Order: sequence, then structure tokens, then C-alpha cells
Amino acid sequence: MIPGAADYDVEVTVSDAAIDRLLEVDPADVDPTGELTFARNVFVPLTTACRYTCTYCTYYDPPGQASLMSPEAVRELVAMGADAGCTEALFTFGDDPDDRYTRIHEQLDEWGHDSIHEYLREACEIALEEGLLPHANPGDQTREQMATVADVNASMGVMLETTADVQAHGGPRAKSPGQRLHTIETAGELGVPFTTGILVGIGEGWRDRAESLLAVRELHERHGHVQEVIVQPVRENERWQSGTPDVATLRRAVAMARAALPEEVSVQVPPNLTDAREVVDCGVDDLGGVSPVTDDHINPDYAWPAMQELEDVADYAGVPLRERLPVYERYLPPDLRRTDVEPAPPPAEADRWVPDRIAAAIDAGNEAGERYRTVLAGGAAD
Ligand code: SF4
Repeated sequence: MIPGAADYDVEVTVSDAAIDRLLEVDPADVDPTGELTFARNVFVPLTTACRYTCTYCTYYDPPGQASLMSPEAVRELVAMGADAGCTEALFTFGDDPDDRYTRIHEQLDEWGHDSIHEYLREACEIALEEGLLPHANPGDQTREQMATVADVNASMGVMLETTADVQAHGGPRAKSPGQRLHTIETAGELGVPFTTGILVGIGEGWRDRAESLLAVRELHERHGHVQEVIVQPVRENERWQSGTPDVATLRRAVAMARAALPEEVSVQVPPNLTDAREVVDCGVDDLGGVSPVTDDHINPDYAWPAMQELEDVADYAGVPLRERLPVYERYLPPDLRRTDVEPAPPPAEADRWVPDRIAAAIDAGNEAGERYRTVLAGGAAD
């Protein structure tokens, strides 16, 4: 039983036999991709408050030190991103600030918001106005919280990291794998195209990695909403000095992800945290969001590669590099999708995958709409 799954009413059953089969997979068993994709984004670290204290994380700040970006700062940053040709505003968070973050709650109150999700909604509206498609990662979300922002996001995400109970998540405010799975399942129920992933090297074992990937597969098979799964190595930083996975570990983890997931779900490695050349033959088909404007605030010690480096990775793999939007094309309505893209089956509980606001933004006759449609038409990765 996955820890916390019963507490959050998540029914995911991964059999020992399926785990055993996945553990047999190695890089030679998977086919390399015929194409690599990436999205051009701007990181918007809306708040660094977080109710958890994961021991490998340098993103969160403790109460009294955490930041909350003002609406003006959000606008300035996303406008800069749009000017630089980005398509995605990637809203990064900790996880719901708890009661210890009195200053954050007072500031939200001063700006007329009862919760961080209400404020996130305003921030997403700003991004849409300035010509970027929001992709928010606000940590674990209840159904009510996600519904507050689902119609102003092109897609959303949360890292599962692992289904194991690991010491790195320990302490009095530990996050629960069951709650993460519940968030991923809620996205499926609400018809939100979703990104998740595993974090490799935080104390989990190979069986845990296999179980995590198969749990994501099960939720995707139930709802059809997982667009990509990130295989992210933990990296050393000022809070984590317990090592980082070696290349052989990453290669095997990536190959297992490719083998575990249906073909339509992309396998992504963050090119600033790993040398993508070392794993590109193991089933990687996406290089994630790459920012020409901002740092990776989650991993500030690891600079984003320049566009030229992404092209070098694609050249090394002998495949084309194609820019994509933060929402995968199969979730778009027929008039915005290329005819050769197989549509995702419709979501069970929602009318359509992509909210009207997002579809209208992509279809708009303004500069932003043209930028989005250029990317959809296979616009050049310069
Ligand atoms: S990894 Fe995420 S949940 Fe954990 S402390 Fe950092 S911001 Fe919070």
C-alpha cells in the first residue's frame, strides 16, 4: 500500500509482478526518440513559502524570510518573457503556506485575497493579459483549490517524486505520497493536462522508482491527462550533501520511465540538472521548459543551457528539435490542432481539456496568439 493513499482516498494498485517486470528494463530495451521537444518559459516564483521542509530543497524560505511577488513584479516579469518570445509562465511555489507564514497571509489579505490560490488566479490573469500561457505548480491541491485556477491554466503540475516514505520528506511537516497522488488524480478528474515526475536519489530504492512510475501510469490510464513525466536527479546544494545519482542510475531510471509509460506520455529530463547527451538514447523525448529570461529558481546553482546547447543535444541524438506549448497539442480543440495529431480522449468530468480562456488566447488575432500558433505550426527553434 502506498503511504497515505488510503488517507486521501486514492486507489492505486501496483502489483509486485509489474514492478518485477519493470525492474528488468535497461536502456538497451527502449527505442530512442525520433524528435526532441522543449518549451520556452519564464519562471515566476510567486512565493517561496512552503508548509514542508524537504531536506534537499533550497527553494523554500522559512517564515519571516519567504517572499511573495507583487502583482506589479509578476506583470513586469511575464511581459519580459513575452517580449523574449516565451509562451509559458511557469508559476513555481512551495506548497500551501501554513499558519506560520503570518506575513504572507497578511500581505495576501492586504491585496484582497483569502488564499494563495485566489492570488494565483490573479497572477495567471496577468500572464494571459501580457501574452503568456500559465502553467502553475502550486504543490498539493485540494479539488476546490485546483478548480479555483483550472480555467486560467493551460496545464498544471506537481512532482510525485516518490511513492516511498523517505527520510528526506521527514520531520514534523512531511509531505505524503498519497496526497501527491490525490493531486494528480484530481487533475485528471477536472480535465487538467498535467505534468509530474520522479525525483531520483532522495533515499528511494529501485522498487520505489518502479512503483512510482507505474502509479503515474495507472492514473493516466484512468484519466488520460498526464502529458509528461520528468525524471529529475537530486543535486547537491547547501541543504543536501547526500550525493547525486550517477549516470548509470539515471539511464536506467529514464529507460524504466519510457517502458512504464504509454507512448503518448513524454519522458523529460531537465537539461540544466543532467547532461542530456548521457541519457538521450534511453527514451527521453522532451527537454522541458527552458528559460531565456529567468533562472531556474528551484535549482539556482544550475544555469539553464542556452538554446544552442539544446540544439547540440538534438544534433548529438540525430533528431530534430521542436518547440512546443506548455499544453501538449493532443489536448487542444480540433481547430487548433494539426490534423495528424491524435486527439486525447475527452475527459470524463469536464467538457473539454483546454479551458475556453486558453483556447481563445491561442486563437487570438494579437501578437501573443500569433506566437502560440507559430509554435504549433512547428516554428523554428532559434
Ligand atoms: S521540495 Fe517543494 S514541498 Fe518540499 S520543501 Fe521544497 S518547495 Fe516545499
